[in-house]
Amino acid sequence: MTTRFAFDIHARDGAARTGTISMMRGDIRTPAFMPVGTAATVKAMKPETVRKTGADIILGNTYHLMLRPGAERVAKLGGLHKFMNWHRPILTDSGGYQVMSLSDLRKLTEKGVEFRSHIDGSKHMLTPERSMEIQRLLGSDIVMAFDECPRADRPRDEIAASMEMSMRWAKRSRDGFDAGGEHAERSALFGIQQGALDEELRKISADKLTDIGFDGYAIGGLAVGEGQEAMFATLDFAPGQLPEDRPRYLMGVGKPDDLVGAVERGVDMFDCVLPSRSGRNGQAFTWNGPINLRNARFAEDQEPLDSRCKCDTCGTYSRAYLHHLVKSQEILGAMLMTEHNIAFYQQLMQAMRDAIGEGRFAAFAADFRRDYLGQGD
Ligand SMILES: [Zn+2]
Repeated sequence: MTTRFAFDIHARDGAARTGTISMMRGDIRTPAFMPVGTAATVKAMKPETVRKTGADIILGNTYHLMLRPGAERVAKLGGLHKFMNWHRPILTDSGGYQVMSLSDLRKLTEKGVEFRSHIDGSKHMLTPERSMEIQRLLGSDIVMAFDECPRADRPRDEIAASMEMSMRWAKRSRDGFDAGGEHAERSALFGIQQGALDEELRKISADKLTDIGFDGYAIGGLAVGEGQEAMFATLDFAPGQLPEDRPRYLMGVGKPDDLVGAVERGVDMFDCVLPSRSGRNGQAFTWNGPINLRNARFAEDQEPLDSRCKCDTCGTYSRAYLHHLVKSQEILGAMLMTEHNIAFYQQLMQAMRDAIGEGRFAAFAADFRRDYLGQGD
């Protein structure tokens, strides 16, 4: 028998932890970074290249996939894994966040969200029950509860009311997921903590989620424009309010220095479009901070993007060549830059896992910040 879902913590160092999530489609080493495969593709990368960078799991977007090609069609074609040729775990978001940020003419009620597609204007309804159904049709391994994510700068009573509704939706998500038959027996469901930057609301949310019971717990409602200082201040208490023996997932984060600071505060999982989107925009992440390959200073630079990076791009191509590709808007430029950025993120996660395992995470984080942010000790 293969395990449906188990989380083993191998080592702790301060609030940081390293471990393994075991699932039927494979293990996920934590802290984990999940590349974002919005429309059944990590843009500009083949799935085998994504795997080669060290990714154990990728993320798929319910909102995009329900609109195009459609969840029922993906199911008919054998599920998302077969459709896109990625056979390891996939986490799908619930669509809640993107329906609020991308769609037109939304109508939010207790039942769910009615909206028009940003692609063709067609009318759709997302509810906790429909979100669970879509994620089941896609064949998701880690299903996210359907929630509402209000802006962090809304008045406290609005944040509180929204969080309370998200907790009622979390229960409906739990029930919808559990009614999913065979899919529920081989996949996992995560709840999402809300409450913006407010410690008391976050605690109420955490307690309600824990009462319902989930395989893992996400910290939602951050990385929505509040800034790193406010995010870290919230992460000083939010992870500790969630069950200690379950994975904690910080949604939509972030920059390399965000990841180090969040792992330091007890977060186990991340996803973000930043490394892939930046790769397409000519920005490369390095151990010495981000660099923009459009810059003329790289025109005759024969060094790799990062001298410590072990990716194929760095092993083969110079900054001068990448500068040329980016300036010429060649597709290969986006491909090579994305591959490096995803590989860099995975090497960063591996370095953090090693440091936690060896009990030297504080020193690692200090060295990282010195090199990456140029901050002396
Ligand atoms: Zn590289």
